[in-house]
Amino acid sequence: MQKRIESLPARLQLLIPAACAVLLLPASALAQPGRFDERISRAIAGCEASIIDIRHQIHANPELGNREFETAAMVAGHLASLGIEVKTGVAHTGVVGILRGGRPGPMVAIRADMDALPVTEETDLPFRSTKRTTYNDMEVGVMHACGHDIHTSVLMGVATVLTDLKEELAGSVLFIFQPAEEGAPAGESGGASLMLEEGLFEGIEPVAVFALHIDPQVPAGDIVYSIGPALAASDGFSITVTGKQTHAARPHTGVDPIVMASQLVLALQTITSRTLDPLDSCVVTVGMFHGGERSNIIPENVRLTGTVRSYSDAVRDTVEQRMTEIVEGIATAGGGTGELTYSRGLPPTINDPDLVRSMIPTLQAALGAEHVIEGPPWMASEDFSYYARLVPGFIFFLGTLKEGTVSGDLHNPGMRADDSAVPVGIRALSNLVIDRLLLEGGER
Ligand SMILES: [Zn+2]
Ligand SMILES: [Zn+2]
Repeated sequence: MQKRIESLPARLQLLIPAACAVLLLPASALAQPGRFDERISRAIAGCEASIIDIRHQIHANPELGNREFETAAMVAGHLASLGIEVKTGVAHTGVVGILRGGRPGPMVAIRADMDALPVTEETDLPFRSTKRTTYNDMEVGVMHACGHDIHTSVLMGVATVLTDLKEELAGSVLFIFQPAEEGAPAGESGGASLMLEEGLFEGIEPVAVFALHIDPQVPAGDIVYSIGPALAASDGFSITVTGKQTHAARPHTGVDPIVMASQLVLALQTITSRTLDPLDSCVVTVGMFHGGERSNIIPENVRLTGTVRSYSDAVRDTVEQRMTEIVEGIATAGGGTGELTYSRGLPPTINDPDLVRSMIPTLQAALGAEHVIEGPPWMASEDFSYYARLVPGFIFFLGTLKEGTVSGDLHNPGMRADDSAVPVGIRALSNLVIDRLLLEGGER
């Protein structure tokens, strides 16, 4: 910073002290984005091979939600070997680490999820999973088909890098290795909400929380982010329409729930097309329509089941309200009854606009502006939303597609994420944490 002032014309140099005095900017606000990137790069060069090896081990040994025993042990061992304070058994198998920097300042959190999916891997990767387990009483293959092996190994790499730069850290770092992002097994609770219920942020509320998620359709080396909505809320509903069973040839003696339910399927589409603002993205899908046993019987009941995706709580409220009215209205008009169960699932994941805008220069400095791309939000959901509801959050997508190859999408047996994305993820998150602490005024 000093050098830049010296290189300015003399007249401008005179103006600068005055301007600084007026704005009273702390030293931290003048920090150059990504100014530690060179040291971060050196630290990454030192640990990259071992972290990629860890990634292969995690990928070859995937574990389902709330069963991440070996993965958690590997994470905890790694953090402990770095001298980071470690707590295990959080929300069943979660691991939390705290790294205290060499300078006073606030805390920034970073999260990775560790769970795999009941998917049988079909890639030809040398470290592909051949594991099998039992899920919902069925024997299934297990695969890191959502890339959480990359998330976990990247965060372990970030822990190594930030430990290396510990003396420069103007505050502390909370490492969150979370179980069961894809949902806990039937009858169990888990994931981000359980970690928070168990007091994850109690007494140590971070000033910001960061995470990444892989995108197997984006080239490795690139990251994609959105400002505001990043991932959707995911709600579920089921509707039971009850009529009066009778002979199919004598419909006037009964009440037909198939006709009422058919009208309902169409009427529910008017919530998005006629009630909501066209600029409010929302999906209402009836995915199951079950009713009837024989062609010559009008059944007693029909059951509809579906999902609602949206980006705001206000939209969710409106959808639930209109759904209640439509179900009741159509069932009454048809002479039957309708019962709606609307269940709120994951909340929408909203990237804090101020946080994202303030961190883009850091990402651009670290990765090159051409590799930091603004993109649309996803209609998929993420339980990172629970953290981002409490403190400013920023999740971005890390490209993992190797040039000249094809990958299945997330949750597909042919999904393949390239190792070259690992150092990119470590670089992005390490720079974000260091710069965020500086921007928060942690530097003294
Ligand atoms: Zn997933
Ligand atoms: Zn995922």
